Amino acid sequence: MTDELAARLADIDARIALAARASRRDRAEITRIVVTKFHPASLVEHLAALGVTDVGENRQQELSAKVDELREIPALRWHFIGQAQTNKARAVRQAASVVHSVDRARLADAFERAGLDGAGPLTPLEVLIQVNLTDDPGRGGAAPDEIERLAEHIIGGCGTLRLRGLMAVAPLDEDPAPAFARLHEYAARLRTVAPDATWISAGMTGDFAEAIAAGATHLRIGSAITGPRPQHG
Ligand SMILES: *Cc1c(COP(=O)(O)O)cnc(C)c1O
Repeated sequence: MTDELAARLADIDARIALAARASRRDRAEITRIVVTKFHPASLVEHLAALGVTDVGENRQQELSAKVDELREIPALRWHFIGQAQTNKARAVRQAASVVHSVDRARLADAFERAGLDGAGPLTPLEVLIQVNLTDDPGRGGAAPDEIERLAEHIIGGCGTLRLRGLMAVAPLDEDPAPAFARLHEYAARLRTVAPDATWISAGMTGDFAEAIAAGATHLRIGSAITGPRPQHG
């Protein structure tokens, strides 16, 4: 089990290095987040033993439970990558160091209130604005033309949040390369109002090479490393 995990991790890391080289990018500026959703905390423990520091979860309850169970591994940085509801903001803030999925002012405000109430560590919560790369509002994420306004809201009104960049998921019905090229443009637009917000969170098991070519700084890779996800409802 651990041997297979180590082999898959090494294989993905080799492919990341290859894709970075092909795009003439420095591998050191790319963070590989291992998405561990639906897998038990013991898998995260194995990953940590292999040197993994950044892990991602998309559901608050599962995130909180694993953070609790793995409290004795202080090196882990937990990334929340799922749709967040305002009434879960406090619990997410308590558990995560980074939230990739802020897509509306009300949600940013909920994380801000949780911070002012003392939820989580005293350090700012690092946040990314999730952008919707499709025309379907049901897919989650802010519309591209809302990015600057939301960024200004976070910078101007949310002192316990630190805006780091943009996050997106590639559309299901489009080649990822042009979609990630749009994301790259949106990221440049964001930097006109938030010069430090340089992160681009994009790229999953099926499209991380395309994401690296389009400038992704944070990859969210699940099944290629963890193996298939256990059955879930
Ligand atoms: C599950 C998930 C991933 C990882 O997906 P894989 O295809 O297993 O690599 C990345 N990002 C988000 C938002 C996810 O929910």
